[in-house]
Amino acid sequence: MTKNSLQYLKGVGPAKAKLFEKLEISTLTDLLHYYPRTYQDRRLNQPPNDYNSSQLTVFKGRVLNGREVPARSVLIFKAVLEDEKGRQIECTWFKKRMFGRFRFDPFYQLKKDFKINAEVWVIGRPENRNNFFGDKINVDEYYPISDPQCALHAGRITPVYALTEGLTNKQFRQFMHEALQTDTLNKEPEILPPSLLQKRKLLGSAQALKGIHFPGSLTELDAAKARLAYEEFLLLATAWGIKRTQTKVLEKGYRYTLKRTLLTPFRQNLGFDFTNSQKHVINEIFRDLQSPRPMNRLLQGDVGSGKTVVALSAMLLAAENGYQSALMAPTEILAEQHFITFGKLLKSLGVKTAILTSSTKAAAKKKILKELAEGKIQIIVGTHSLIQDDVQFANLRLAVIDEQHRFGVRQRSLLKEKTAKLDLLTMTATPIPRTLALAFYGDLEVSTISELPPGRQPIKTESATEKLAFMRVAQEVQNGRQAYIVYPLIEESEKISAKAVSEEFEKLKTVFPQFKLAMLHGQMSQEEKEAVMADFAAHKTDILVATPVIEVGIDVKNATVMVIENAERFGLASLHQLRGRVGRGEHESYCILVPQHTGSVAKERVDIICRTSDGFKIGERDMQLRGPGEILGTRQSGELEFKAGDFFKDRDILTWAIQDRDELLSQDPSLSQPQHALFKARLIELYEKNWHLIDLS
Ligand code: ADP
Ligand code: MG
Repeated sequence: MTKNSLQYLKGVGPAKAKLFEKLEISTLTDLLHYYPRTYQDRRLNQPPNDYNSSQLTVFKGRVLNGREVPARSVLIFKAVLEDEKGRQIECTWFKKRMFGRFRFDPFYQLKKDFKINAEVWVIGRPENRNNFFGDKINVDEYYPISDPQCALHAGRITPVYALTEGLTNKQFRQFMHEALQTDTLNKEPEILPPSLLQKRKLLGSAQALKGIHFPGSLTELDAAKARLAYEEFLLLATAWGIKRTQTKVLEKGYRYTLKRTLLTPFRQNLGFDFTNSQKHVINEIFRDLQSPRPMNRLLQGDVGSGKTVVALSAMLLAAENGYQSALMAPTEILAEQHFITFGKLLKSLGVKTAILTSSTKAAAKKKILKELAEGKIQIIVGTHSLIQDDVQFANLRLAVIDEQHRFGVRQRSLLKEKTAKLDLLTMTATPIPRTLALAFYGDLEVSTISELPPGRQPIKTESATEKLAFMRVAQEVQNGRQAYIVYPLIEESEKISAKAVSEEFEKLKTVFPQFKLAMLHGQMSQEEKEAVMADFAAHKTDILVATPVIEVGIDVKNATVMVIENAERFGLASLHQLRGRVGRGEHESYCILVPQHTGSVAKERVDIICRTSDGFKIGERDMQLRGPGEILGTRQSGELEFKAGDFFKDRDILTWAIQDRDELLSQDPSLSQPQHALFKARLIELYEKNWHLIDLS
């Protein structure tokens, strides 16, 4: 057993170690770097503050009496405590009555701990909300003063960890406390150069770890967080900084020239003129493509702003030059729709397109792979399937990623890996505020489509009951329009959601017997999905009942009502995207949110959507409510997850990190000076493995 092993801790055996594995903690070092999810202020007589959830009651007192109370259906234990100031509180515990089966007294421990005159901390939630420091609470945790561990849990700012079943916060705090006493903490390397520690007045690494887990004060907590956040930001900023210098000198070795053999007929066949904003971003993109360096551009534009034709213009420029291009979409349905759109727009141009997804049949796939490798296919549309190993291109030059926020960082970089010097265009309707994007990506250029095509009417958005929503659906369908009714994903599982939607679908058929309904969910086969979408697009069906598979991209102009069931379960960006499925044609359109339960954040989201139509503002609020990691798609992929830092709240620290990164790299571009050795080692450990884009050797 190494000194860094978890089993070095008292009470951690193989079974516990398994639970820790689930949290990706396999060593003491990992444990020390597993930061609290939040904190509870369990100091007494402290003014309320940020770390305190207002509903938490923390009370230290002497037991006046503690006893089992006779009751019929449940077992109840009550204890009354009194503090120094004479304030009293009544605590209640319930246990299920188990007839004839229990062998021991369920209140045995409570009776022992709540003897008259014993001193105890209790932490709980008031039974009656209006009676805050009143009398009755349900106890979450309690700690007898006589317990030597008491000071870890009560009378302090107490860490609360995100854990897994089988581990309690009480145990975890004790393990953490023990881990902090081991040699591992003292051996924790200081990776930040001393000059930066001094300049920014940051805590040392060991001190910061102590402070993040068991802060003695809010000031100490802030200092610990600042140090750890700074470290994370500096590492990431430096990684991107290095990448930036590397791509700056990179020459892609080919150029595009504007021939207009395809672009001119394309514009003539389009049926509309580009908006000024579209023209502007097309110019930016074309300038990149004509330059000797690889493009890395983010195209942001609100839902419905017309990003697809912009991307297609770039892809046609590639085709004019004899190059292949690929468009990767996050869902099959969206890929399918792009494929159909491209087919229509390119019909008379003689450009060869194809689609590749995981449900492409083996024979068809074989043919497509062959034609890609031979360079016969000029434009390919697809899903993740495009980045699989067996896909080889003759001369892929341009990759477009639609709805890039839906992809993990790794997937994005994999596509880029296909050929190192690829031109990359990523598109999103969930914009990242510009400064953040620049800081985050370092070498990313950003183009913005700032206007919608002319003639769009704002979508009337409201929160209403299901009954009212269905009345609107009936009315619109009677007038010849179409509607979507969307149900949320349940527990992240498409399977269960599909079942739930199927059940609702049967019910809805009886609600709308006079209309044609169709259903769409992720468990259906590609053919089924295609058929359903095609029927809906051709108005062979009136109402589409769906899971959020239709969230992105779907474009049916005759659809004018979007009903979102259980709206509180959707994030802001999803709600905005779903709403963007209607209001695409000349008809007035409606988005009706039908919330079920409304917590405060959920209610806030629904309110924001009803009030705001600007996707950029919604994006900012979304970031505040959810945190940027999730939005950037990094949380799931885990590569760029910030543990201590918060992009949104820690702007100042982010700014420091960017400034210091620039200084650091200008003094020591390859980080070869001895005082930067540990920092460099950590950088390599963090990013080189996962992140093929950076070469730190
Ligand atoms: P998004 O930016 O959300 O991907 P799309 O590219 O799907 O938006 O465009 C939405 C709709 O607007 C499509 O039906 C598209 O044909 C249409 N559209 C795009 N540009 C224009 C324009 N300049 N004028 C009129 N309609 C346009
Ligand atoms: Mg789109």
